[in-house]
Amino acid sequence: MPRMAATAFGHDIDCGLGAAIDLVNTAPETGGAELLDDVDALRGFLSEHRFETVGEITPDHLPAVRAVRSRLLAVLGTEDFDEAVRLVNALITDTGTTPRLARHDGHPWHMHYYAPGAAPSDHIGAECAMSLAFAFAADGRDRFRECASPGCRRLLVDLSRNRCKRFCDSRTCGNRAHVAAYRARRRAAS
Ligand SMILES: [Zn+2]
Ligand SMILES: [Zn+2]
Repeated sequence: MPRMAATAFGHDIDCGLGAAIDLVNTAPETGGAELLDDVDALRGFLSEHRFETVGEITPDHLPAVRAVRSRLLAVLGTEDFDEAVRLVNALITDTGTTPRLARHDGHPWHMHYYAPGAAPSDHIGAECAMSLAFAFAADGRDRFRECASPGCRRLLVDLSRNRCKRFCDSRTCGNRAHVAAYRARRRAAS
């Protein structure tokens, strides 16, 4: 993983949070369509988020990954923070989370949370749940919210220092965010 300058919780945790958000945004509940609809979509998600899952990904893996996605949606969807914490803890347990230091592919030593040889669903679940746990312990749920675009129900994680992120990273909403920032700068300048 490339090292980036500023992170909210450290590079690996930030990546895990990004993966959790991208995963829940593949669900019909947030995106309006099932975006994790076949094994190629799952492979794409895994490689985009650098999940170093061992073994071949098959269509048989899809239902379990979607089940983990539903559980992450439940964590981020409840109004009750104690309930969110309970759900995260259950996911950490059920995915067989096994923290250990790992070094591979030229990266320095870093933490892995999935058990060696874990199925893709457990691998994703352990990494995402642990990242959420670190974020919850530090900041509660302050950094998680729904996109502010009218009609957009996608979720976002705000890793910015001043916590001003309002729009998700989809093309439509990302552009809207750029236009809003541009107008704010113009207003400030005039
Ligand atoms: Zn790794
Ligand atoms: Zn959006």
